[in-house]
Amino acid sequence: MNKKVLSIVKRYQADKTRLLDMLWEIQRQYDYIPHGAILTLADELNLSVNDIRETSSFYHFFHMRPAGKHRFYLSNTVIARMNGYQQVLMALEQATGATLGSMDVSGTFGVYDTACIGLSDQEPAMLIDDVVFTRLTVDKVQWIIAQLQQGYSAAEIANPQQLPTHSIAYVDQLVETHICQAGPVFFQQETDYHRLLQQCLTHDPDAVIKTVLNARLQGLGGAGFSTGEKWRLCRETASQTKYVIGNADEGEPGTYKDRALLIRSPKEVFLGMIIAAWAIGAAQGILYLRAEYIYLKQFLETELQQLREAGLLGRHILGREDFSFDIRIQMGAGAYICGDESALLESCEGKRGTPRVKPPFPAQQGYLGMPTTVNNVETLAAVTRLMEKGAAWYAGLGFATSAGSRLVSVSGDCARPGIYEVEWGLTLNQLLEQVGAVEPWAIQVSGPSGECVAVELSGERRFGYDDLVCNGSLMIFNRSRDLLDIVHQFMQFFVTESCGICTPCRVGNVELRQKIERIIAGKGCQQDLDDLLSWGEIIRRTSRCGLGATSPNPILTTLAQFNQLYQAKLIASQGTLLPSFDVKAALQGHEQARIKVMQIESEPSKEVVK
Ligand code: SF4
Repeated sequence: MNKKVLSIVKRYQADKTRLLDMLWEIQRQYDYIPHGAILTLADELNLSVNDIRETSSFYHFFHMRPAGKHRFYLSNTVIARMNGYQQVLMALEQATGATLGSMDVSGTFGVYDTACIGLSDQEPAMLIDDVVFTRLTVDKVQWIIAQLQQGYSAAEIANPQQLPTHSIAYVDQLVETHICQAGPVFFQQETDYHRLLQQCLTHDPDAVIKTVLNARLQGLGGAGFSTGEKWRLCRETASQTKYVIGNADEGEPGTYKDRALLIRSPKEVFLGMIIAAWAIGAAQGILYLRAEYIYLKQFLETELQQLREAGLLGRHILGREDFSFDIRIQMGAGAYICGDESALLESCEGKRGTPRVKPPFPAQQGYLGMPTTVNNVETLAAVTRLMEKGAAWYAGLGFATSAGSRLVSVSGDCARPGIYEVEWGLTLNQLLEQVGAVEPWAIQVSGPSGECVAVELSGERRFGYDDLVCNGSLMIFNRSRDLLDIVHQFMQFFVTESCGICTPCRVGNVELRQKIERIIAGKGCQQDLDDLLSWGEIIRRTSRCGLGATSPNPILTTLAQFNQLYQAKLIASQGTLLPSFDVKAALQGHEQARIKVMQIESEPSKEVVK
């Protein structure tokens, strides 16, 4: 083993920032990360064993114990559950002999669930050994497992024609990309990248930043911060070394628009990174690609290579001696929190994805302590288009306080799930009509961290930063759906994905989830609802990062617009402080312990009997 691990370390030149890559390679060799490999890594990288363990134990897709030769990760989203997740899971367990969260006795199959894998328009879906399978049914699952048992690999099953894995045909064979409505900003086919970049480089970096500022482009990853302002802050730092990072870690359940951009418009994304590099003065870039999109990696590497061969990337771009810039792809390993830009930076450095305390902001001290601009995939693609069409054109889209447009991933109870480009200003009702919503009742806007709205109260609200802020997804639920159960699933998601560094988020979300469980079980009272509101506010205000700041939203927003659902579940108050508190249940453990102690005390001492 030592030899193999040493050769992996050598390939990465013992660079500890590449620890995630090394762990991936080790896991591919051994199907998990053996303790012996951790000892070797620690020695070679001059880290402690605990340093390595700290990173490897943090990520969902790394296994520290044998986890099966073929590992199945079934997406457990709300949308998957609406489309047959439970039947698929049962079929998986039956056919493999493994129960959820473990492997079968022979060690051949491991069955695990995972948060959204960015396929809510074609779920149930799962990853097997870096390959994705969509639209799962019981029959399809049984067939896949039979093929694996006959010795075929997941890659062979998914790619019977043996299409080259770097080709778009391969990607299209694995997943469908439903662009239901494109334009004016995204998915345009006729961009002349060479001419566009040449034109950008005729302007000095300050002029490029001014164009982005004048376009009023706000980050499309969630925070909505001015992109031009972010670049300006980074440019103005004195450091000679700066970085550009493309954030392709879309983990918000129900969101898959970045996947569509990476598949259909990868060069727009990369060109946005190149323009950002020119603007801030960076020579190196990283695309942080979520592990769930591993099947896109070779295709994206090929796209990067084409840009290098065209002179748009690499040394002396377009012949300019003053501009060299290249991009590498960093794979994540399964952690929603790495969508947070400072957690992503930690992950890029080979560490666990714990959000940093801000300030300093990444534009001041980012990757390896150097000024760094982190932009989401969609923002970068928008940069390319606005540089092509001009700031005034982009700023003219949308309305006064919200310029441009944005992509929305639509799923749930509708006739046409897929990607829709929405100009800011469209109303919710208008979009619901476009997507063919079927008796829409509750709409989850922007995933669990966003807002759940009632169509009858919010249908005429318009998408925009001053009203219905949409961060890329819309999940549609009709009245047949159990909304409180959906809230519970979202809270479970936040409990699972919290990095755990701060108490309000780590503990508070567990408390909120338990209260929801009590209410669903018909054991809640008005005091529980009051607590949900006040505790939710505390978690929102005191958490370190965006995850904690938004995690109570599923509860707070449904309490606001679907209060009657909660009220219908409450038990009547009996005048006590917290009538739902079950004294018997709470003391059950103590009572059993007390009885045991009494039994032990009443038993004659064995020594005495002897
Ligand atoms: Fe981690 Fe949650 Fe604190 Fe964010 S709010 S740093 S996810 S514990």
